[in-house]
Amino acid sequence: MKYCTKCGNQLMDEAVACMKCGCATGKFFPKAGGTAETSNLKLAARIFMILGTVLMSFLFLFPLAWCVPMTVSYFRKVKYGEPISIGFKICCLIFVSPISGILMLCDDE
Ligand SMILES: [Zn+2]
Repeated sequence: MKYCTKCGNQLMDEAVACMKCGCATGKFFPKAGGTAETSNLKLAARIFMILGTVLMSFLFLFPLAWCVPMTVSYFRKVKYGEPISIGFKICCLIFVSPISGILMLCDDE
C-alpha cells in the first residue's frame, strides 16, 4: 500500500493517479522528457535480445546457458527501472546480439 504524496490519501499499489486529488502517483512518470524515445530503444533492444537468443540457439545450443539468463535479467532491469551497467551492455553486444548491445549503449540513462 502507498500514499498520495500530495494529499496523503491511501492508494492502490497499481494506481497511477490519486482518486481524491487526481495527482499522479509518480510511479509511471519517473522522468520527464525523452521517456518515449528511451522506451522505444529499450523495446528494440529487448526484441533484438530475443532474436539473438533464438538465433544463437539455432546455431549452437550452448549459448543458451548465458543468452537466456541475460535476456531475462535485462527484461527485469527494464521493468523495475534498475540501472544497466556498461559491462552488462558490452556483454550483450558480444555474446547475445550486437544490435541490442548497441541500442543499450545508445540508451544513456
Ligand atoms: Zn491525492
